[in-house]
Amino acid sequence: LLDIRQLAKSFGKHQVLKAVDLHVSKGEVVTVIGPSGSGKTTLLRCVNFLETYDGGSIRIDGTEVGYRNDGPQRRRRGEVDLARMRAETGMVFQSFNLFPHLTAAENVMLGLRRVRKKPKREAREIALHWLGRVGLGHKADSLPGELSGGQQQRVGIARAVAMEPKILLLDEITSALDPELVGEVLDVVRQLAGDGMTMLMVTHEIAFARDASHRIVFMADGMVSAVVPPDQLQAAAAENDRLRSFLSRFS
Ligand code: ATP
Repeated sequence: LLDIRQLAKSFGKHQVLKAVDLHVSKGEVVTVIGPSGSGKTTLLRCVNFLETYDGGSIRIDGTEVGYRNDGPQRRRRGEVDLARMRAETGMVFQSFNLFPHLTAAENVMLGLRRVRKKPKREAREIALHWLGRVGLGHKADSLPGELSGGQQQRVGIARAVAMEPKILLLDEITSALDPELVGEVLDVVRQLAGDGMTMLMVTHEIAFARDASHRIVFMADGMVSAVVPPDQLQAAAAENDRLRSFLSRFS
């Protein structure tokens, strides 16, 4: 479903992604781990049109996505068109990014109305459905400021999945949460995985990554250093110094 080939990206002289190859099949949960600065977030941002990239390609179901930097490949898209493409790759951020003056339901409805052009009533029905699925049916009319961090993040997830993305991109979605709120958000991710949602996530929750992913991608220095099923992570570490030293911090 998602096919990333030889992706390259620099910020000035700093080459953050060197030649990243990554494939995610339909229904698969792939988790990217790696040291700080290894390019994990940049990778997700390239997929979701939030960063341009310099070389290589990103395809979803064969269609090229993202902004490639060089000459004729670079395409400018209209705002709604771009929002529609972005919705195919629903992204959930570390910092929630909810509109503070809109209720939980209104936050979820926004993209449904503007991008999917759903009538108000239908948009609200869909929003209530997804808020219910993340356990927040009773908070639909609350403002973000009235919700805990874990609840706000669950609204963020509901907002992304309500758009029916082909793939969900999760960028360190528990990093900003108090430890006691992490579990409720991971439960929602686990539930979505069980429902067959295709996901590419970046996380520092190694235990969760092992538990919830089909494959784990270890990035180091802007490159994919290892790709393994979770139960082979330790075995791979025996042969990969960087992975071993990275994992040793979590045990
Ligand atoms: P972390 O786990 O700390 O979030 P990461 O693996 O997600 O790290 P990225 O956020 O992708 O890493 O960043 C990779 C490198 O790119 C870092 O050295 C960062 O400083 C640099 N970088 C990211 N965004 C920019 C930017 N807009 N301009 C310049 N440098 C950037």
